[in-house]
This record gives sequence, C-alpha cells and structure tokens, in this order.
Amino acid sequence: MIHTPLVRELRARLGAENVLSAPSELAVYDCDAYTIERRRPDVVVLPQSTQQVAEVVKLAKRHDVPVVPRGAGTSLSGGCVPLGGGVVVVLARMNRIVEIDLRNRMAVVEAGVPNLRLTQHLAGTGYHFAPDPASQAASTIGGNVATNAGGPHTLKYGVTVNHVFGIEAVLGDGWIVRLAPVENPRELDLIGLIVGSEGTLGIVTKIWVRLTRDPQDYRTMRAVFNTVDDATRTVTRVIAAGIIPAAVELMDQGIMAAIEETMHFGLPLDAGAMLVIELDGPAVGLDAQQERVIEFCRDCGARELLHAADSRQRERLWQCRKSSGAALGRLSPSFLCQDGVVPRTRLPEILRRIAEIGRKHQLRIVNLAHAGDGNVHPNVLFDDRDPDQVTRALAAGRELLEACIQCGGSITAEHGIGIEKVDLMERLFSE
Ligand SMILES: Cc1cc2nc3c(=O)[nH]c(=O)nc-3n(C[C@H](O)[C@H](O)[C@H](O)COP(=O)(O)OP(=O)(O)OC[C@H]3O[C@@H](n4cnc5c(N)ncnc54)[C@H](O)[C@@H]3O)c2cc1C
Repeated sequence: MIHTPLVRELRARLGAENVLSAPSELAVYDCDAYTIERRRPDVVVLPQSTQQVAEVVKLAKRHDVPVVPRGAGTSLSGGCVPLGGGVVVVLARMNRIVEIDLRNRMAVVEAGVPNLRLTQHLAGTGYHFAPDPASQAASTIGGNVATNAGGPHTLKYGVTVNHVFGIEAVLGDGWIVRLAPVENPRELDLIGLIVGSEGTLGIVTKIWVRLTRDPQDYRTMRAVFNTVDDATRTVTRVIAAGIIPAAVELMDQGIMAAIEETMHFGLPLDAGAMLVIELDGPAVGLDAQQERVIEFCRDCGARELLHAADSRQRERLWQCRKSSGAALGRLSPSFLCQDGVVPRTRLPEILRRIAEIGRKHQLRIVNLAHAGDGNVHPNVLFDDRDPDQVTRALAAGRELLEACIQCGGSITAEHGIGIEKVDLMERLFSE
C-alpha cells in the first residue's frame, strides 16, 4: 500500500530525486542476494546526510510505517527485505570517505562507502581496511557493521567489530547518537551492541574505522586432498602448532569441479577437497612457517601442493577461491548459500551431516568454508522455478543449521539472522 501523504512529505524534505515510489523503481528493492523471499517496499528513500535519515525516521514514525535500512543488498539472509512493507532507507548515496588519519590509523566513512573502495583509496599508504567479505567490491561498510561481517582474513584479523572505533547512528525515534568505545568495564559497550544488530536498533550513518598496517610479505599455498577429513585435519594441525594463518579457505569437490569448469585452473576433478592457506606478517620467519605448514599438509595426505612464487601467482590462487560464487551459476539456476559455524575440530562431522541432508532431500549441496574459523557455507543447489525444489531447499537449509547447533555451533557466523533464520533464534536463546 502506498502511503501518499508520507511520500509527499518525504519528497518535500529530501527532494523528488531521492524518493522512489513507482512500481518499476520499487521492484529493484524487493529482495537481496537471498532471493527466496520477496516483498516490494512502499517507498524507497536515498538520503544524503545523517540529518535526512533522522527526518525520514521521524516521519515514518509519525505515520506509523516500518523502516528498513539497506546498504548494497548483498545480504544472504534477507535482512533488508521489507516483509512488512514500509520505507526502505538506502544508504548508497551517503558514500563519502570523510577523513583519513594515518597517524592515528583511522578513517571516517559514511555508511554507504563500499568496503573495497576504502582499501583502494588507501593504496600506497601502507594501510588497509582489514574486514574483507567476499562481497567487498559491492557491500557497504555500513552493511558490514550491521552484520558484523567477516571474511577470509577473519581468522587472524577478527571481524568488523574489531575494527570499529566509533559509530554515528539514528535511533528509532530519530535521535542522532554518537558512540565511542568505553574504557571503564562497568559502562555498556554500545558499539558492541550496535555492530551486528542488523538495523534493528538504529541506522548507522557514519563509522570511525581502524586501519591496519599492510603485511610486509605473504606466503600463499594451495593444497589438494583426497578427502575433506584430510583437509580439515591439516587445519587443526596448523593451528594446534601455534601458527595463525591470515586465511584458511576450504573448497569441497563440488565447488572445485564448478571452478574448474569455469576458470580452468587445472584442478583435479577426483580430489575430495582443496585448501587455500595464506600466511602473512614480517618477512623474517615466513619461510620457516611455510615449511611447517607444507609438512603438515604432507603428513595429512596432501596429494598436490602449490605455492605462489610472486604476487601474480598469489592473485591467481585467490582467484580460485573468489570465483567460486560465480562458478555456482554453472551448477544450477539457483542456490541457497547457508552460513553456520561449528567448533573447528567438528568440521568433518558437520560436512558429513550436510552430505546426508542433501541425500535426504535429493538436492546437491556443495561446500565452501572459512575452515580456520569453523565457518561453513553449504550451498544448496535447486531450481527456483520448481516449488517442490524450493520447499526441499528451505527444509535442507534449516536442517543444516540445526545440525550446526547440535555440533556445538551457531546458526550464523557472518551472514546474520535476517528474515531467513529468525525462527531458529529460539533454538539458541530464550525469549
Ligand atoms: C557473493 C557474496 C559473498 C559474501 N561473502 C561474505 C563474507 O565473506 N563475509 C560476510 O560476512 N558476508 C558475506 N556476504 C554477505 C554480505 O555481503 C554481508 O552481510 C555484508 O556485510 C552486507 O552488506 P550490504 O551493504 O550489502 O548490506 P545489506 O545487504 O544491504 O543489509 C544487510 C543487513 O544490514 C542492515 N543494514 C544495512 N546497512 C545498514 C546501516 N547503514 N545501518 C543499519 N543497518 C543496516 C540491513 O537492514 C540488513 O539487515 C556475501 C554476500 C555475497 C552475495
């Protein structure tokens, strides 16, 4: 239902060019990367300042209409789909890098700045923004804050909350607040509360982020194994030895086959799993660490090992991992990318359970994992034109997450709860 007086007032405050209400314009905002549930907003606004966001929130409150914030819409759990209709507040036009303060290793950005743009902007300074979700070319830093995004380098560098110094946000009544880290442990850590709250507590408009020194050097390797168990045993051995790689990414046979078909890296199609392992830090000592990692890979049965001799080869090894999302398009018309987490040592068990669930629902499931964190992304392949397959895919997705809970894990590691997992919250938390 279009709220005509509200739309009129929004146009008057924000300018007609920043308010969308035609059905064809709204259609663009009816889903995110989790495309199963769709709902068109009643109106979309594209504010250009915190003040404008506050005005929108106050107006919506006065008209008793719900508000849903949206960054780039790359969420894989439906978080920015306005199931109850209302106003979608798109932060994309608030995309200024406000300040770079290298002496204090800090940057101030508006919420709509795409993640990768900040690191590109910093090229040559010796610093970067560490959270690097695989969606970083598109996803916004505001969206990363809202979902407490992780990424391949989370194992060593932490998730988004570890890189936030301050937040400006608009609360549900239009009040603009600025939050700073607390020094007294008896005070509430409000930044920790807002980061990961997926827009339920307020709309983040500006962020003070930590900048991380670029590592002096890298060692990047690819190891191919006959079984997933061999690959996950390697991860446990490496970490138990006190080596914290910058990243440890696991791809199973299904994903490897899709990547090979698309990109022709020369991956063996009969292998069970592949790891991409990256070490970084001061150049001194990296070779010795790499030798140990190679030794662990061999001990655990790696049948093929490749290490990047230069930055071009490193880039190519990473391409292997980063092209996996696109390669899935080769396997089926649609896929449901799940996100669960288990204690690292239980990865073999959860991957076996996932295979069983796939067989039960007669659906193919292929897996990617940020293996160092125990974060697994099973991709349930289906055809969304077939309602029966949609039902089975949803059931399989739910069972996967229940299996994560049974393995001592949780229903999200980094994609958030969104609308997809809200019903599963009661499995983990009291009312
Ligand atoms: C190919 C692909 C790879 C991905 N890889 C990763 C990965 O490695 N790690 C990872 O963590 N995620 C990953 N994701 C998921 C997604 O990219 C992240 O959750 C990302 O942080 C979402 O950012 P966004 O700007 O697209 O937010 P949106 O999708 O627009 O919104 C996500 C949620 O945050 C809320 N929100 C958005 N902006 C704000 C704001 N300014 N204030 C308050 N609330 C807001 C929305 O209401 C919604 O609930 C991936 C997604 C895709 C499609």
